[in-house]
Amino acid sequence: MNKIFDIIVIGAGAGGLVVAIGGAKAGKKVLLVEKDNYGGDCTNFGCIPSKSLIASAHAAYYLKHADRLGIETSPFSFDGKGALDRVRKIVREIRSHEDPDALKKLGVETLSGIASFVDKRTLSIDGKKIQGRQIVIATGSYPVVPPIEGLKETPFLTNETVFDLEKIPKRMIFIGGGPICSELSQAFSRLGSKVTMIESRPSLLAREEKEAQKIIMETFQKEGITLLTGERTERVSYDKHFTVEVRGKTLHSIEGDALFVGVGRRPHLKELMLDAAHIKHTEEGIPTDPYGRTNIKNIWAIGDVTGPPFFTHYAENQARTVLTNLLLPFIMKKSRQPIPRCTYTDPEVASIGLKEEECNPKKIAVYRVPFSEVDRSITTGRTEGCVKIITKKWSSKILGATIVGPRAGEMLMEISTAMHAKLPLRKLSTLMHPYPIESLAIRKAADKWLTETILGIFRR
Ligand SMILES: Cc1cc2nc3c(=O)[nH]c(=O)nc-3n(C[C@H](O)[C@H](O)[C@H](O)COP(=O)(O)OP(=O)(O)OC[C@H]3O[C@@H](n4cnc5c(N)ncnc54)[C@H](O)[C@@H]3O)c2cc1C
Repeated sequence: MNKIFDIIVIGAGAGGLVVAIGGAKAGKKVLLVEKDNYGGDCTNFGCIPSKSLIASAHAAYYLKHADRLGIETSPFSFDGKGALDRVRKIVREIRSHEDPDALKKLGVETLSGIASFVDKRTLSIDGKKIQGRQIVIATGSYPVVPPIEGLKETPFLTNETVFDLEKIPKRMIFIGGGPICSELSQAFSRLGSKVTMIESRPSLLAREEKEAQKIIMETFQKEGITLLTGERTERVSYDKHFTVEVRGKTLHSIEGDALFVGVGRRPHLKELMLDAAHIKHTEEGIPTDPYGRTNIKNIWAIGDVTGPPFFTHYAENQARTVLTNLLLPFIMKKSRQPIPRCTYTDPEVASIGLKEEECNPKKIAVYRVPFSEVDRSITTGRTEGCVKIITKKWSSKILGATIVGPRAGEMLMEISTAMHAKLPLRKLSTLMHPYPIESLAIRKAADKWLTETILGIFRR
């Protein structure tokens, strides 16, 4: 491999794959370097296994509670091992489209090993020197291990190991209350584990609207998950089972057969030796300019390694911009569209843009439609959530939205599209929605603008 590559991509995850495959399709000589797992976090330890597990958990839960829909089932049992085996099968299937053989067919050369910089054009991959005209860093992020006494001496789980479990643990303790812990807690609980969540902040999903937090916490409690919010993990030990000492109002201890830690993620910079190429970086990640370039002209960075938010769709979006900038004669700026997000609990929590508490109350209007007012939600018996849309007061320009509901992530895309196309909320009032879809909640929110603003003027 003595040739000079047009593009070297470090990291075969969500972002790196887009650049490598796109570059090769455009006829560039591309090398993709991956140290461990082709497909990165999303395929191996993130989105794919978690959503696969959630699908099984969903089926188990709704079978068990089919009587709510008037269906009597005879007592049934299920084997959680089957769900975990299915997760691994799906990961293998998706990874097979992203492994070196599949990539070779797409024209991408691959090299397995740890990449580190020698200078701004040269990388050392496990001692082998490789040169590239353009280098893209897409090394992702890794789970933070918090400084809890005793933790490192125990066999705790992270997202990198939890999907290797052979069976569903009888009792599971989750340290953390963000999206990853919330999704997995509910999934394991529905698959038969007795789950306890410990979160030092006062509520789960701290980044979401308070109303969304409340619905999720109430749902979890109803499903039998023990929530220790506002409590700190002080000490952890392991002797056949885990003992976790927690400080709330008092110091108390809980026991579990498995302990999952998910308290945050850090950009993966460790082995890159960025200083050798004078690439600016902090613990928070590698900063890039509006075009996706680092401080070094021929070196670019995309995805989790550039810092939060950590999402596959964000990594892919950045990758598309950098790919364009590597291939075309003109230069394109990174998207400034608001980033949609979804936590795949049941109900899902999907949001975009600003929260109510981030806005000046005098300048905004809030339109809220509970699903209890939506016919389709009544038919399915899923009325617990709501759609909440925040707009500028008169113009109805959409500033943000939160949806809590069974398919909130899919529904959010109507709002996301409207924001991207700069459509004010009022325009959605005249948009035909097939009856009786759940998204009619969005049209109803838009109707509220009409009744409160326009009809309000006539009523004066
Ligand atoms: C449990 C969990 C669930 C998630 N669910 C979702 C979800 O539902 N939706 C969503 O949008 N996001 C989700 N995410 C986040 C998503 O997985 C990441 O944002 C996404 O994978 C980031 O892509 P990336 O290309 O930046 O990095 P990655 O996909 O992590 O790829 C980075 C790759 O670089 C490799 N690498 C690192 N250092 C080197 C080196 N020096 N040399 C060679 N290779 C190296 C790594 O081995 C890795 O394969 C989830 C994450 C977790 C942990």
